[in-house]
Amino acid sequence: MNQLRHGVSLLLGLMAWVQVGSAEAQWRAGIARQDITPAGSIWMGGYASRDHSSEGVLQPLSAKALILEDQQGSRMAFVCMDLIGVDFRFCEAIGRRTLASTGIARERIVFNSSHTHCGPVVAGVTPIVYDLDRQQQAVVDAYAEKLKDQLVILIETAVKDLRPADLSYGEGKATFGANRRAMRGKKDPRPDPTAPCDHGVPVMAVRDCRGELHAVLFGYACHGTTTGIYQINGDYPGYAQVAIETGHRGVTALFMAGCGGDINPYPRGEIALTGQHGQALAAAVEAVLSGPMRPLRGPLHIACERIELKLADPPGREELEQALKDKSVYRQRLARHLLAELSAGRPLASSCPCTVQVARFGEDLAMIAMPGEPVIDYALRLRRELSGQSVWVPGYCNEIFAYLPTERVLKEGGYEGGEAMVYFGLCGPFQPGLEQKIIDAVKRLAAQR
Ligand SMILES: [Zn+2]
Repeated sequence: MNQLRHGVSLLLGLMAWVQVGSAEAQWRAGIARQDITPAGSIWMGGYASRDHSSEGVLQPLSAKALILEDQQGSRMAFVCMDLIGVDFRFCEAIGRRTLASTGIARERIVFNSSHTHCGPVVAGVTPIVYDLDRQQQAVVDAYAEKLKDQLVILIETAVKDLRPADLSYGEGKATFGANRRAMRGKKDPRPDPTAPCDHGVPVMAVRDCRGELHAVLFGYACHGTTTGIYQINGDYPGYAQVAIETGHRGVTALFMAGCGGDINPYPRGEIALTGQHGQALAAAVEAVLSGPMRPLRGPLHIACERIELKLADPPGREELEQALKDKSVYRQRLARHLLAELSAGRPLASSCPCTVQVARFGEDLAMIAMPGEPVIDYALRLRRELSGQSVWVPGYCNEIFAYLPTERVLKEGGYEGGEAMVYFGLCGPFQPGLEQKIIDAVKRLAAQR
């Protein structure tokens, strides 16, 4: 009798498995990861005030890839990196190589940088910040070259890993992000609850047909600036990914920075806080994973456009020669750089290209991949105006060429409104009208079927 009961329960169990296992998966997903920790001491990205190279590694840095393929065989790739940022040329170089080996076109890859300020300088981003000697520059260049090879292998490996999967989406909340513009210049800077902020934590779960979790793609809109220490680490996004992966053995956690151009973690300044914010973000992700999540269906539709954003009229030679005596060493460097451009017969840029990319998951989710360092108003506005569906607005995608202010921030001025453009090698600010131009491009792309 016992044996019979055992046999029946075994059969029932097998039937249940077959039933779940045979349900047709909506997607195929492939996952891969790669250690991208610099091998030795290297100049670190982000803070202009840094005066020497890195001193050891507190936490290794990773790049992770997630490939998704819908039922029609349409593919896209997410490449999430624990880095300050990469530029357009860098992503193009990788895209050219992976198109040949995987068939995934460049515009179907979303490169996202976590914007940790405790990682290496990557060639091409904020060139005016760093005044590296020949040897330091050689280390930075060699790192970027090796990184390109690593990312190509990463994407190729993830494609080989493609297997049936189901996707689901939900949103949690973490509250350590604070609008830094509203705190600047204050004696006792505290978050201003009335200043724009978005505490949403978008979460995409990748599960196999038996419901077992394989990967988690999650985001948060906040600078990776908890500390400016000299030990390499992924800042709060790095710690959040480790916390999620520690809680789920074998699962890959991928972080996507949001529109945190004007958002800083609060409080900040100590490494213990980096861990604390990472834990808070991981807990928000955990809460979503353990609750009901909405299934994501296809078809997958990717649309991409490179628009031109007009810059203020460039300065003339005389003005640049004056700027050589500016009290800011960065303005001096920019003037030197631009005078060299003029001498070489190259006119100064009067506009700046900006890649806008939209990935639609049927009618269930629109992901708007914004380039540069977009301020939070972009996420708030797009989430409001594209209502009726889930909207996820990552920033720091594909090319980090400048801060992206909205009309309000441009008018207010300050660091994100135009002052920071010098670090990107640009004479600024942007001309008014950029916000609407970007929003129009997003809507045009999101309307494509
Ligand atoms: Zn930044």
